[in-house]
This record gives sequence, C-alpha cells and structure tokens, in this order.
Amino acid sequence: MTFQNTREFAQQLDSQDELKQYRDEFIFPQHNGKNVVYFTGNSLGLQPKRTKKYVEDVMNDWGNLAVEGHFYAEKPWWDYHERFANPLSGIVGAKPSEITVMNTLTVNLHLLMVSFYNPTTTRYKIICEEKAFPSDQYMFQSQVNFHGYKTEDSIVEIKRREGEHNIRLEDILAKINEVGDELALVLIGGVNYYTGQVFDMKTITEAGHKVGAKVGFDLAHAAGNIELKLHEWNVDFAAWCSYKYMNSGPGNASGCFVHEKHHHVNLPRFAGWWGHNKERRFKMEPQFEPVHGADGWQVSNLPILSLAPYLASVEMFAEVGMEKLIKKRNQLTAYLEFILHEIDKDIDGTEFEIITPSYQEERACQLSVFLHGQGRSLFDYLMKNGVITDWREPNVIRLAPAPFYCSYEDMYEFGQILKRGILTK
Ligand SMILES: *Cc1c(COP(=O)(O)O)cnc(C)c1O
Repeated sequence: MTFQNTREFAQQLDSQDELKQYRDEFIFPQHNGKNVVYFTGNSLGLQPKRTKKYVEDVMNDWGNLAVEGHFYAEKPWWDYHERFANPLSGIVGAKPSEITVMNTLTVNLHLLMVSFYNPTTTRYKIICEEKAFPSDQYMFQSQVNFHGYKTEDSIVEIKRREGEHNIRLEDILAKINEVGDELALVLIGGVNYYTGQVFDMKTITEAGHKVGAKVGFDLAHAAGNIELKLHEWNVDFAAWCSYKYMNSGPGNASGCFVHEKHHHVNLPRFAGWWGHNKERRFKMEPQFEPVHGADGWQVSNLPILSLAPYLASVEMFAEVGMEKLIKKRNQLTAYLEFILHEIDKDIDGTEFEIITPSYQEERACQLSVFLHGQGRSLFDYLMKNGVITDWREPNVIRLAPAPFYCSYEDMYEFGQILKRGILTK
C-alpha cells in the first residue's frame, strides 16, 4: 500500500480498521481534552473499561461470601487461575496444560531456573543477549553465584557487531555452538526490549537443544505482541508479564509456560501448597505431589484481585485473536515508519534514526528511534504536547503503537507534533 502523510488518509485507514471499535474500550489519559498519543503500551498497557467489573465482582464476592468465596464465588477463587489456560494457550501457542499464571515475571523466571538451570562442573554456562533487561542480568548473576559459579566465567553475552544496532541470528547460533558442551541454558528475550528486535525462537531453540542445553525465553515484550508457537518450537520454558501489551495493570501477575515433555519428569522445583495435587490439597498431607502440568509449579494461593484484570484482558485477546492484532500491528507500525521517514525528509534528515530492524519478520509493534543531538529536549517536548513515549539512555525513545487501541490518525498527529518539536528546538 502507498501511504500518505495526511490526516484524511490516516482517517480513511481508521475507518477501514476492523479493530476500530476496540479503541473505545480503553481509557486514555487526556491532554487538552483529547486522548494522548499513547506509545508506551510496551511498558504499561491502557486500562480496558471492562476491567473494573472483574475487580468489582471479586470485591463483591469477598464482601458477600468472605471465606466461602474460595468455593462459592461465581468464579471460585481456589481454581480461578485455571480460567487462563485456554485463552492464554491460544495467545502463546501452547497446550492448556502447559500454561499457568502466578507471581510476577522475574520471580517466575527464578522459579523456572530452579528447574531448568542445574549446572554441573562441566556444563554451567548461560547464554543471554548483550544488555539484557537489567532484571534479567541481576537474575543470571544471582543464579550462577547461588550455584557457586563466577559471573564472568558463566554468563556469555551475545554481542552486537561494531556499528550495528541489532544482534545477528548467525552470531547467536555460532555462540551456542562455540560454548557447546559447557552450555547449560540459553535464556533470551523473545523481543528485545530496547530495540524491538524479534528473535527467531524456533531456530535458537533447535540450536540450543542440539548442543544439549535447555532453552527458555523471557517474553515480556512478546506476549500479546507477536505470534508465538511455544509448544511447536519445543521451547523448554517461558514467562511473561501481563502489564505490557496485555493491558492487565501495573505490576500485575505473570504467565508461565512449561513444555509438556517436562511434565512427567521429576524436576527440581521450589514447591508450595498450590502446586500440590488439587484433589488432595486441603488434606494437608506432608508429602508434596505436584499437579500434572504447568500448574505444578504454583507455590502460593493466588492474588485474585490481581488476576481479575488479567482475566478481563486475556478474554479480550481471545475475543479478537492474535491474527487480527498482528495484521493491524504490521500496518500501523509500517505507517509510523513511513511518517518518520516523511518528517525526516521535511527537515534536514539528520535528527533521528530508526534502530529497529526494518524487515517485518524481525520486528513487531515497537520502533526504537535514536535521537541525535539534543534528544532529551525533544523527548520533553513530545511529553508536554500529549505524546506519551519513553526515554532510554543514551538517546532512545521507544514508540510502540499497540494495535488494540492506537489509531492511524494518532500516527499522523504524532508526526505533526514531532516536526514542530524539531523545528522549534
Ligand atoms: C518488563 C520486563 C521485565 C519486568 O520484570 P518484573 O519482574 O515484572 O518486574 C523483565 N524482563 C524484561 C525483558 C522486561 O521487558
């Protein structure tokens, strides 16, 4: 499609958008009486209007039933988490038994590493991406140290080549082969949080398994954003947060995937009563017997007030389906890219640079833009003028137009504000 940088053209795309009615299902912060242009759905998704009722239902059940809500609420609390298995398995390409929800993301990755990172004196290394999300870096360091290994001997980062912004798949595969027999675990983001680069999880998983390692993914920026086929790709484990693309509210619960092939195996794990045989849970027996499936990794009884917004969100995703979201995502991101190039042409062409891969297969919702010169003041200008984006050192703004609620006209509007911001600088 040939795009045009005009309001009429953007409005025409909006009128043809098959997801257009969903925009009204979200609550937007206001700027001068208008919806902001919201680019930070990769950090905290907007609140769906229907979420409040899910929370109120739990509050009402708690008020009316108190402890009896565990079994007699309309959605009983003791197995509330099981309502996620079907809709989430569709979103991440898993079998329902491979899905569970609990805790928060870093906590879950730690718990999963208890099962999937069991270093020996000869096989103890972890491969991760260079400049992984800080929480992941701290997690890797503390895990290897906990097992008695040194950070510098055990953590192998895959680097970008000199002058390049993204990591090459061939370099990931070469590193996996190089570490070979010493490699215990590959654990990288499915989508890099900084650049928006999408990794080829299928090929990486195959390569890791070939040298005898386990392979897991941090899907914080992937869940609800890209097509995932975790079961088919034979990924060992994965976890994601629900507050980014999945719109479930600040700091909210995480989802986990454990491949079916591990369900029969007696893997080490940190156990708790919610992972114990469901039928016998309340018999309070001393011997732990895990639930078959990913639910066997549960520890505590669940924070129902936080699962409620997540359930509202997951049901919205199931209603729409990833296919439609991805179709709009591709066009919306392409339109944003077009607008950025147009603005770049209108000015002198040296103000900024898109560092996200330009191929559709290697990117998803987000475009990361490196601002040359006085980047910070331009960022401040955008924020003051109703464009919500975020700033990452040294000079990057990340623009993630979530297809659920962002419009093509938002992209046009953003372009106009960006241009004014650059010209008035
Ligand atoms: C957002 C994000 C996290 C956040 O972890 P929490 O435990 O939910 O605070 C972790 N990893 C990556 C890659 C992220 O993008």
